[in-house]
Formats: sequence, C-alpha cells, structure tokens
Amino acid sequence: VKNVRLEAWILEVPLKEPFTISAGTNTVSRNVVVRLSTRDGLEGWGEASPSKRVLGETVETVVETLRRAAGDGAEVDYTSTERIYEYVWGLGGAPSAMAALDMALLDLYAKERGEPLWRLLGGYRESVETDITISLLPPEEQAKRALRYVEEGFKALKLKLGRGGPEEDIARVKAVRDAVGEGVRILVDANQGWSLEEAKRVIERISGLGVELVEQPVAWDDLDAMAELARWSPVPIAADESVKTPADALRVAERGAAQVINIKLMKSRGILGAARIAAISEAAGIVNMIGCMGESRVGITAGVHAAQALRNIRIYDLDADLLQADCVFPGMGAPAERGVRRAPGEPGLGRFKPNPRYMRRVI
Ligand code: MG
Repeated sequence: VKNVRLEAWILEVPLKEPFTISAGTNTVSRNVVVRLSTRDGLEGWGEASPSKRVLGETVETVVETLRRAAGDGAEVDYTSTERIYEYVWGLGGAPSAMAALDMALLDLYAKERGEPLWRLLGGYRESVETDITISLLPPEEQAKRALRYVEEGFKALKLKLGRGGPEEDIARVKAVRDAVGEGVRILVDANQGWSLEEAKRVIERISGLGVELVEQPVAWDDLDAMAELARWSPVPIAADESVKTPADALRVAERGAAQVINIKLMKSRGILGAARIAAISEAAGIVNMIGCMGESRVGITAGVHAAQALRNIRIYDLDADLLQADCVFPGMGAPAERGVRRAPGEPGLGRFKPNPRYMRRVI
C-alpha cells in the first residue's frame, strides 16, 4: 500500500478459563491488529485472529502477509468496495491477514463517507444478540458453567461437544438442559469430532432436548456424510470448517450438505467475502450464522457490522472477546450487554486505540 500507512501490533490476551473443543485446549488469544492511516487523518482498523487448525496460518505468517502489503507500493482505492475486494483477494496470503486488511479498508471507506459501515453495506438490523460458547467439559461442569452464563443474562448457549463418545456428549446436553431449563436456546458444535454413525446416535437422542443446531458434526471434507446428515437429521446441520470461501459455500449448496453455513470473517477473508457467501447461501435457501475465531473487540465489532448489514445472517455467535480475561478495548466498538451488541453510531467500524498493556508493535 502506498497511499495509506500500515501499522500492526501483536495482541496477546489470556482467556478467563482454558477453552476446550474436540480438537484441543487454548489458554490465550494471539492476534494481530492493523491500523491504516490516510493523509487526511482517517484511521482504518482491522484484526487478524489466525487459526492454524482451520486455515493453516500463524501469527508469523499473518505478519508476513501484512509486511508484504505494507511494501507492495499499491495505490489502494478504498472508496470502492469492489476495488477493496480486488486488492485484498489479489494480495492473497494468510486468510486472517486478508480479513484484517478488508476490515481496515472498509473502515476507511465508511469513515470517508461519514457513516457507520453496516448502514452502507445493507443496513438491515439495529442490533444482534449473541450466544455464548461453553467449553467442552465433563457434563456436570459444563452444566455449571452454562448456568453461570445464563445468570449473567445470555439467552443462547453453544455447547462444544465431540469428545469421549456419544454417551458422554448426550449426557452433556442433558445436564445443561436440566440446569438451565426450557427458556434457553441451545446449539451444539462437535468440531468434526464424530463419525457419521456417532453423529446419528447423538442427534437422535438430543433432538428432543430443544437443540436448535448441530454444527460441523463430521470431518470438514466429508461432504457425503454432511449431506446424508442434512437429509436425515431432525435438527438443522451447520457447516463451519467445511466452508471458508464463497467457492466452498457454492459446493456445500450444490451438494445439499447443510441447512446453515457459519460465516467467520477470518475464513471468508473479511466482510466482502462474507457478503458473497451470504448471497450464495440465500440463493440456495441456506441460512447463515456468523461466528468468530479468537478476535478481540476490533474483529468482533467488524463481525457485528457484517451481521447488522446482511439480511441472511440470522444466528449470532460473536463472543470471543467475552471469553478473554480482560477487555483490550474497553468501552470501544460493539460491547455486549446481556448478549446484545450494537455497532457504534459513529462513522466506520468505530473508534479504537492501541492498548500498550496487551499490544506489541511489529510493523
Ligand atoms: Mg464451529
């Protein structure tokens, strides 16, 4: 980039409690925050939260992609969303670095027009209500944690499952439903932890417990199994790891491999890729949810803008900053109040400032 100055920080913040899914445990969010500054004093913010497991990237490859962008000498026209898309996808590299640049350029796009980003990209809804994700734990502990969040005001829970065999997963859902009662929404996510047969066994037994959604029951690349489950299951099946890009969404739609596609800005290389996935999904009669990796408030706020902009995004799982031990950007962006988030009324994504306690400058 030539017409904007690119700065980047590694952001490192511990989680409140270890976070476990079927694939492993995490205790810290390690992200990269980007700021683009223009000659007339506008600031565009973005965040990359790299996922080695899903996207094969690391903080190091993200920084490498951003350095390449900083030095590529390109004049980026951030007054056109199509040209932003063309620049970011032409750059290539680590997917979440591309997402961070997409967010930061769109932040400039909207600030230049003096409007909140979500209004310019569709302006569909005024707020969203996020679920909260409950780490994979023994049934009684998972139920205790779920109850704690319900007492804090959350009305939807996403339970991580996919470890210890079908009986243990069934026990988890029963324990949580018993603890929180009827009025709370429950979604589950196996993170590819089941075989086709295991998935059927679990779904059969939990479908009576008011479970709304089963996310990524089987391996991401087994679209045959996904399609069979989507046909058979009384509970809607969501594709997460199976869909990263718009092209993946098209494949899942063609195969009938899910009723729901979980968009994450890190997978879709930002908001403009997310909008293309939403359009493909909508045409195929597939509903979108929007999730996240380990973003702090900057990346989560970008997710809120996408969710408020796009009609087809109807399920919200934007909670990563809430699982962090401290808020890196207190009061900024779109905070959650009892699960409800609202994009700020100011232009662009919102106003952020670097927090020296958790951020170390790298570019
Ligand atoms: Mg998932």
